[in-house]
Amino acid sequence: MNPLVIISKGKDPYDTTRRALKGFPLPDLQKRRILIKPNAGRSASPGQGVTTHPRVVEAAIDHLREEGGREIAIGEGFIFGVEGQEAFLSTGFKEISDRKKVRLYDLDRFDPAERRIPDGKLLRKVKISSALNGFDFIVSVPVMKTHMHTRVSLSIKNMKGLLLRGEKARLHHLRSDREIGQEHKALDLAISEMATILMPHLVIIDGTVGMEGMGPAYGKPKEMGVVLVGDNGVSADAVASRLMGFAPETIPHLLLSARRGLGEIGLEKIRGKPEDYLKWEDPFEPPPSTFSISFPDIMVYDEGSCSACLSTLLVLLRDYTSGMTGYRLADKKIHIAIGKGLKNCPEGTILIGNCTSRMKRRGVFVQGCPPVPSHITKTLSQKRGILGRKGQR
Ligand code: SF4
Repeated sequence: MNPLVIISKGKDPYDTTRRALKGFPLPDLQKRRILIKPNAGRSASPGQGVTTHPRVVEAAIDHLREEGGREIAIGEGFIFGVEGQEAFLSTGFKEISDRKKVRLYDLDRFDPAERRIPDGKLLRKVKISSALNGFDFIVSVPVMKTHMHTRVSLSIKNMKGLLLRGEKARLHHLRSDREIGQEHKALDLAISEMATILMPHLVIIDGTVGMEGMGPAYGKPKEMGVVLVGDNGVSADAVASRLMGFAPETIPHLLLSARRGLGEIGLEKIRGKPEDYLKWEDPFEPPPSTFSISFPDIMVYDEGSCSACLSTLLVLLRDYTSGMTGYRLADKKIHIAIGKGLKNCPEGTILIGNCTSRMKRRGVFVQGCPPVPSHITKTLSQKRGILGRKGQR
């Protein structure tokens, strides 16, 4: 039978989620060990479109319990530089877990478990958190966002948070498109290969407040007031993409997943309820497709950086250049370097990200993987004080 996706619209995240879940057929949950995987890998307050709204997850917990689910936990793996407990607090998940008496798992605190990808061209195996071995029903609860490297970030992309921290960075560092001789970016191919072994059993997409433009972290909140529920992540993401104004076939990781037989993306083959759900389509501002900011007084050295560092740099140049003015070199330009392949740069270059640490004696090194723009400017202002006192600049 064609996959079913229920869409509900309303003002309150809890009520809207409950309505979407009502009537969605679920398997017998009594003996299932359920892990809810929100998008909560960053520190952000609810309702900004950066992380899943905790009230959506609260509604999911209540519904799953009423449907017989007994063992329910919330789990997330965090991006580099984000402390898990702090993020659980700021995103509202600590409060939900206390109130609803569900355990919170910082997935990076567990040993790695290796999973093979039988048909992987790019990925033969991945390292996930061994905490996952304790669960047999995964609920992916992403927030509806644009993404600078994958166009959208929805339920399939959200499963990447189950990989261990270093493994996430590895996916961003995979060989270039030309090397793997195919039309799509390596990252998109990797996500579709990962999906063959990490498909959620249930998907609840939080489109109450999403993010448009420079997602997944630096875009603008977008109020949609919708929640989608499905049991096929590829199809639910296809419907969500369309509501965001993107044809599903233009989302490479969804197209590649559909070609692997993981789900339908043709809307005519998906049973959307209500049938006239496209009346709620409200196009999101797309993510910028090229990295083309031009600053005549800034030199960027990018040798083999991954997408996360590039996004950081883009935001840094857009919003924080004033914090770097004290770092002009003799040519009156600010020199910035990112990436693991960096071999040369002038003395005094700002070296951003752990990948540049080999060169740290040549310049001003800022740690992070990915580095966070506000942390970069804070570090630079602190170091400028120290350098100034030492009379090194
Ligand atoms: S330091 Fe930057 S380029 Fe290196 S892995 Fe981390 S985010 Fe990617």
